[in-house]
Amino acid sequence: MTTSARLLIVGPQGSGKGTQGVRIAESYGIPVVSTGDIFRANIKEGTPLGQQVTQILDKGDLVPDELTSEIVRDRLSQDDAENGFLLDGYPRNTAQVAHLESFLAERGSALDAVILLDVPREESLERLTLRATEQGRSDDTPEAIGHRLDIYERETAPILEVYGAKGIVDRIDGVGSLDEITSRIAEALAARGLRPAVSAS
Ligand code: ADP
Repeated sequence: MTTSARLLIVGPQGSGKGTQGVRIAESYGIPVVSTGDIFRANIKEGTPLGQQVTQILDKGDLVPDELTSEIVRDRLSQDDAENGFLLDGYPRNTAQVAHLESFLAERGSALDAVILLDVPREESLERLTLRATEQGRSDDTPEAIGHRLDIYERETAPILEVYGAKGIVDRIDGVGSLDEITSRIAEALAARGLRPAVSAS
């Protein structure tokens, strides 16, 4: 039996969604599609896309919806995403939700679950400050962090209303140990009948 899981992980900057997304995707055997990672990889390699978006990322602004959506379409059209994927960082506003929904509808599919990692603003600010010293991400300056959190609250949080109306949002307490949080997510997904294909047998 193969399990297909089409997942989206959402949370404020510093919520740990990148880390948890990788863990969950690994257990389900599905690829992580992280728009932030795609942009950063292109910047690092100096591709034309990288050159186009480098200043946008440094300021903490959003890359234009059309461009981002096209990149995600291409990525989700690859074979390894056919039976499932975990999106991290996309969709990030309601226009991107509309793009994604029409792309999935064309293929007769839809998201199965949206994992919302809930972390208080103070905690996420603390984690981001730590990450800034550890990873040195160029958009982890106080200005860019504040700007990204504002965009999250203004543009990204409203996408939860759209998915909430579809009954697919799982709100997960994002405070605790990494393992505890992974277990909480796995339990919520299992309750929806979404179980890893490779389970202990
Ligand atoms: P964070 O959640 O900490 O802001 P991400 O890695 O998700 O980190 O995103 C980093 C940056 O990449 C964003 O600030 C934005 O500039 C760009 N980006 C990522 N995803 C999107 C998206 N869906 N739409 C537009 N821009 C995006």
